[in-house]
Amino acid sequence: MFDPLVDKACGEAQPYPASYWSATTSPVAYAPASGHQQVEVAIIGGGYTGLSCAYHLASEQGIAPILLEANQVGWGCSGRNAGFVLNGTGRLSFAQMHHKWGAQVADNIYREYRQGIDTVETLIKEGDIQCDRGHEGYLKVAHNPSMASTIKEQADWLRQHHQDPVEFINKDRLKQEFLNGAEAHGALYFPYCFGLHPLKLALGYARMAADAGAKLHSDSPVLRIEKSGAKHRLITPQAEIIADKLVIATNGYTVNRFHKAIDSRHFPVLSSIIVTQPLTSAQQEAIGLIPGRVVMDTRALKYYYRLLPDGRLLFGGRGAIKGKDANHPLYQNRLLSALLDGFPQLKGVTVDYFWSGWVSVSFDDYPRICAAEDNVFYSMGYCGSGVSFASQAGKRLAERVAGKAPECALPFFQSPLPKFPFSPFRRLGLWGFYHWGRLKDAL
Ligand SMILES: Cc1cc2nc3c(=O)[nH]c(=O)nc-3n(C[C@H](O)[C@H](O)[C@H](O)COP(=O)(O)OP(=O)(O)OC[C@H]3O[C@@H](n4cnc5c(N)ncnc54)[C@H](O)[C@@H]3O)c2cc1C
Repeated sequence: MFDPLVDKACGEAQPYPASYWSATTSPVAYAPASGHQQVEVAIIGGGYTGLSCAYHLASEQGIAPILLEANQVGWGCSGRNAGFVLNGTGRLSFAQMHHKWGAQVADNIYREYRQGIDTVETLIKEGDIQCDRGHEGYLKVAHNPSMASTIKEQADWLRQHHQDPVEFINKDRLKQEFLNGAEAHGALYFPYCFGLHPLKLALGYARMAADAGAKLHSDSPVLRIEKSGAKHRLITPQAEIIADKLVIATNGYTVNRFHKAIDSRHFPVLSSIIVTQPLTSAQQEAIGLIPGRVVMDTRALKYYYRLLPDGRLLFGGRGAIKGKDANHPLYQNRLLSALLDGFPQLKGVTVDYFWSGWVSVSFDDYPRICAAEDNVFYSMGYCGSGVSFASQAGKRLAERVAGKAPECALPFFQSPLPKFPFSPFRRLGLWGFYHWGRLKDAL
């Protein structure tokens, strides 16, 4: 599999991975960019960030950008994720943000995250996007008894400081009403979060952006970015684009030395998913989970899962460290064995789909929506949680590109992503983190 820290490019015109999502979607092709073109804004990357930016530029800011995607719309994380629309991004809890930046800033961030969910909802409605939106909320499940008290404190914090409608569910009620898992010791229930079909969402955003006037091109990898006076010159296999402003929306799929504004400022990490055969009604009843409800546990190395509309169980977690190992059966088997630890009732279930994608992790655990020097803009570093935030970040990027100051001075807008110190050793650090995480989760 493509590896951003090893390969020089993420490919050209690559098909979608053989995921459950691509098997249940009809793809839409956009023609490659060609010839010489002068534009006001060029966007690189056709995931939620780039597509939402393109749509909001064209529909709200009066700017019709060109969007260049190396492969297909939603080929990166946006067409491979688990489809959880959650209230947040990065890895800092609200209590940590409160201590880092104070109560008011933490609450402003909370409001921005909630707006991210509203943005997804609004786009789905405005574009009539048929993306199997669920209405059953999100469960954050304590994987051991001590985490049950930790999450109960989190619920109290969220209710007290942010008036969040989150509910704490104790172990017995969880088992009776929500989930019959061997590693489920209580949960937080977030009624306003939801699940959807991520690739259908990306294709919906693409249609909306194109209808609003953005020019979308797939099969158009940007191979080189050069300065041309004050402008940017982008070279693809068949086109030369001269742009006044450049938006980089390549996130976890950004190769080394792609542009100096983002070089060594994020860390691509693999997340992997298996999807089982359709469960029988007896199996579904035995695990007690209803389709549409999305679940994540409290491990340091988290597992996430959901029942799909056709009764299959999607189950995800960390993947390999290097791209060349991503498809090794070891990682599929590891996920299956974690699934069976949580749901021994499913012994004997088989796996029909297995795939992986690169999430972008930032050094200080939160992303940036950045206006860098020379009219370069980027948003990345979502640390594995970006369905709602990328949609919102695209909207915010569009405002910044149009020269509008952020409404609220959130930390995301205040600084560039910090560089990773000793960046060539990022993978060694990840290896260490995985060992620490395994030990912590086992204890
Ligand atoms: C397995 C997995 C499960 C996940 N589950 C969830 C979840 O349930 N909920 C959640 O909130 N988040 C989840 N995420 C994270 C979420 O999917 C991402 O944060 C989000 O999709 C990022 O969107 P993006 O547009 O910024 O980047 P991407 O969707 O990754 O798009 C980047 C695009 O840039 C293109 N590109 C790269 N280089 C070039 C170039 N040189 N020229 C042209 N194009 C280029 C790539 O082809 C790619 O399509 C998950 C991620 C993975 C991998």
